[in-house]
Amino acid sequence: MTNSTSFSELKLIDPLLNALAQKGYTTPTPIQAAAIPGLLQGKDMLGVAQTGTGKTAAFCLPMLQILSGEHRRVPSKAVRALILTPTRELASQIADNIAAYGAGLKLRHTVIFGGVGQNPQVQTLRRGVEILVATPGRLLDLMGQGHADLSLVEIFVLDEADRMLDMGFIRDVRKIIDALPKKRQSLLFSATMPEDIVALAHRLLHDPVRVEVTPPATTVERIDQRILFVEKNDKRALLGEVLSDPELGRALVFTRTKHGANRAAEYLKKSHVSAEAIHGNKSQGARERALEGFKTGKVKVLVATDIAARGIDVPGIDLVVNFDLPNVPESYVHRIGRTARAGREGRAISFCDVEERAFLKDIERTIRRQVPVVENHPFRSTIPFTAAPPPAAKRANGGGGRGGGARRRRR
Ligand code: AMP
Repeated sequence: MTNSTSFSELKLIDPLLNALAQKGYTTPTPIQAAAIPGLLQGKDMLGVAQTGTGKTAAFCLPMLQILSGEHRRVPSKAVRALILTPTRELASQIADNIAAYGAGLKLRHTVIFGGVGQNPQVQTLRRGVEILVATPGRLLDLMGQGHADLSLVEIFVLDEADRMLDMGFIRDVRKIIDALPKKRQSLLFSATMPEDIVALAHRLLHDPVRVEVTPPATTVERIDQRILFVEKNDKRALLGEVLSDPELGRALVFTRTKHGANRAAEYLKKSHVSAEAIHGNKSQGARERALEGFKTGKVKVLVATDIAARGIDVPGIDLVVNFDLPNVPESYVHRIGRTARAGREGRAISFCDVEERAFLKDIERTIRRQVPVVENHPFRSTIPFTAAPPPAAKRANGGGGRGGGARRRRR
């Protein structure tokens, strides 16, 4: 990080500076330094950034400042600022951030998402709130029933736009955008910019400032990464071994599938490691309990799929384990970035079975470095490298003996 700007140089007002001091934040992250001045001037913004970069504060701080600069009575059901985000967890975290940063301001905010009763949400909206944080489905429901009115929105934030697309929310998002007034300030954040998001950005933003932070180089360098070659059927035993270290603090384990997450968590529990799985098939209550346990330290290991993990903002994750290697290299970077947040160092261990070796190659190409291999572990795969690795992970299968006969380099 080369910026030495302070928050006060960004012309933030005292109540916000006090709140930041309270949080112990001394220096703006790069995205905050880049985004805050333009946003305070009322500009639209395209932020290419992922969770972990400090992007929440980058949009919440100017939003709070702008809204508090011009106090207005908010009519029943109306909101002055809307933040759309794909998951309940993210919505709650953004709301927590707003509560913390806005502690010294007289602005009301609320959060709405599906999976819980709508009545309390309807009651709160009836009084009118300055800031609404919402997931798209529930918001559309409430709009349809006449409980939410977006016609007075002054600031609109579309957070994690690429996730919205992945999760199939993009049509809902478009409908919500159609309900917004033409004159407004709009912000779009996305970790990646697939074509659909580029199109959406065109539609949503007027003459936006583009702010891009690329964590790969910065984040990846600070993380101690290792690869463990292991056969698929030994992965759970290896996980138990890796996580049995009593010195270990919080660990976040990534699996490719929900089922895999459940099975890994069950295995760990049987091995007396306190673990919970978190993914889309779990009830809201179960997810919240797991997350809360993880935050308080009661649950040492959280096993998650990529989508579920997106919303987890727990500082102080000591270790990220890739139980399965992701087939998209960027996901690897996102995953391991969950440790080493906001300047801290972290560790990441990745299991790689014979079918995942092609993924490893892609990852190493993307991060432009070779990940050191741990040779000395009890479940070291003995399947040698073939000249051409088998086509990656088509079927879950032990793969025992496949690739035999080949001799190539062993890493
Ligand atoms: P986000 O990308 O918004 O999810 O933020 C990532 C993490 O960094 C969160 O835990 C924030 O509370 C934290 N954070 C945000 N801004 C700062 C800052 N300026 N200094 C230190 N930590 C920060």
